[in-house]
Amino acid sequence: VGETVVGETEFPKYLWPRITPEAAEFWAGTVRGQLRIQRCSACGLHQHYPRSVCSHCGRGSLEEGTLGWVTAGGAGTVHSFTVIRQHGIPPFDEAVPYVVALVDLDEPGARVLGRMPTLEPEAAAIGMRVDATFAPASDDAAFVEFRASG
Ligand SMILES: [Zn+2]
Repeated sequence: VGETVVGETEFPKYLWPRITPEAAEFWAGTVRGQLRIQRCSACGLHQHYPRSVCSHCGRGSLEEGTLGWVTAGGAGTVHSFTVIRQHGIPPFDEAVPYVVALVDLDEPGARVLGRMPTLEPEAAAIGMRVDATFAPASDDAAFVEFRASG
């Protein structure tokens, strides 16, 4: 117990994720640079964020083993986005304006929300192709972000 030493992160401790048992596999993956999502063997669809039951069909479940983990390729398509132009909380206050995108991964059914810190807001577009990247947040987690593909 005591002061936790923060490594290569721009995120203050109050932004560190609270890691729930259901999402532990997801967060462990982010530290390795892997985007871990759930796949339901009952309906074949994927989901994010992690849950104990399939959000698509209601049949797949972690407990019964019909909801498992796969590593997503990280590529996806922007379903929607917004531009954050005002933010009062560090470190985001110095990052505005920036894009936050809702991304449909290439794995059907999985939709991920993430910042696009390197994209000029004027260049953001629905349908654009993106790739996931990871921004270290703490020793135990990194935030998923996206950048334009190519
Ligand atoms: Zn399902």
